[in-house]
Amino acid sequence: MNVYLSKNQCCGCTACYSICPKNAIQMQGDEKGFLYPTVDENLCVKCQMCVKVCDFQGTEEVNHLDIKDNLIYAVKHKDIDERLTSRSGGTFMAICQYVLDKKGVVYGAAFDENLKVVHKRAEDKKTVNEFKGSKYVQSEMGDTFFNVKKDLNDGKVVLFSGTGCQTAGLKSYLKKQNTDTRNLILCDIVCHGVPSPLVYEKYLDYLSKKYNSKITQFNFRDKYFGWSAHIESFLAKKKRFSDLYTDLFYKHIMFRPACSECKYANFNRPSDITLADFWGIDKAVENFNDNKGVSLIIINTEKGEKIFNDISKSLDYKKSNKKDCLQPNLEHPSIFSDSTEDFWIDFNQKGIEYVMKKYGSLNFKSQLKFKIKVLLYKYHLRGM
Ligand SMILES: Cc1cc2nc3c(=O)[nH]c(=O)nc-3n(C[C@H](O)[C@H](O)[C@H](O)COP(=O)(O)OP(=O)(O)OC[C@H]3O[C@@H](n4cnc5c(N)ncnc54)[C@H](O)[C@@H]3O)c2cc1C
Repeated sequence: MNVYLSKNQCCGCTACYSICPKNAIQMQGDEKGFLYPTVDENLCVKCQMCVKVCDFQGTEEVNHLDIKDNLIYAVKHKDIDERLTSRSGGTFMAICQYVLDKKGVVYGAAFDENLKVVHKRAEDKKTVNEFKGSKYVQSEMGDTFFNVKKDLNDGKVVLFSGTGCQTAGLKSYLKKQNTDTRNLILCDIVCHGVPSPLVYEKYLDYLSKKYNSKITQFNFRDKYFGWSAHIESFLAKKKRFSDLYTDLFYKHIMFRPACSECKYANFNRPSDITLADFWGIDKAVENFNDNKGVSLIIINTEKGEKIFNDISKSLDYKKSNKKDCLQPNLEHPSIFSDSTEDFWIDFNQKGIEYVMKKYGSLNFKSQLKFKIKVLLYKYHLRGM
């Protein structure tokens, strides 16, 4: 039994794994570190539920409001602490607060105790805070879809946040399970593509060896030097900065294969509210950018519109439009590097350090440039 035709056709959302009535599907990692469904033929009854639930391979479902210009906003959370600790404008935290006030449950991507990125369930602000910040790696879903269904069946308000493919997968799963989704709020992010959890894991090992220390915190994009800077940071005895992982991320060389055929890299979103960084804000809205983060929010449904109206008192916002907020991943999937195939062969045979040297910025010139960049940022910060 094949759940997917080719790896380009499986986003790993876990809808098939979650729906199988015989628990015949397991999510197993491949040599690149991405999880794929594998079927135990001894348990499979060929009901085809796993194939039917797949939104990524299925027919496109258009079920959103016709996006009008006035449903796109540039947003900043009024609470500066919320904004500084979030990736962009902190809008997601305002939506979380709306749900917590209703004694609801939030699902989002967080670190586990080994810094692996996994989807977690939260019922309090302390746990919700773990969802802050973008983790540029595919999050492991575990039994999230199943737990969301249970919470909805228990009558709870549920907010799920994730990539477009995870959100679409959950939506399809709940529909096939005839779950009442009136209390469900879906929030997706504009997504560049999800990097490999195995590359990330090996990178943490590399850092740990280099600094002879366990890495106890990792920030994929630290706002320390401002919203526009893309610098990762980590704790290894002390706080340190790097660009090695970031560089591979922007090379488009370690994404999940299906990201090259992403169906959600457009305005036809599978969620109530879509969140992103508002790149191009200076042109779109004058005097709004203070380099502390501005969210782009795209409201896709009437439910999303109602929530936005409810939370708007905690936000500073300006209307925008499709043209001004446009960015590559709202137009098309990321285009993979021509070296992607070679990268994976080298990664599997020669390891992380080798690929960072060959394809990334682990070389004298790039690292010198990076050090100068950090020094300039530090100098600039001191002068402020
Ligand atoms: C892999 C990835 C690629 C991205 N690509 C782009 C892009 O091309 N353009 C752009 O404008 N924005 C992109 N973003 C989104 C952006 O960086 C911010 O997450 C978004 O603006 C929300 O910011 P915030 O301040 O409102 O919320 P934050 O408080 O920063 O909230 C983060 C939200 O993102 C979710 N999240 C974080 N990491 C993951 C993950 N690994 N998988 C699933 N969900 C996750 C959390 O559950 C939470 O909902 C990307 C994010 C990720 C994780």
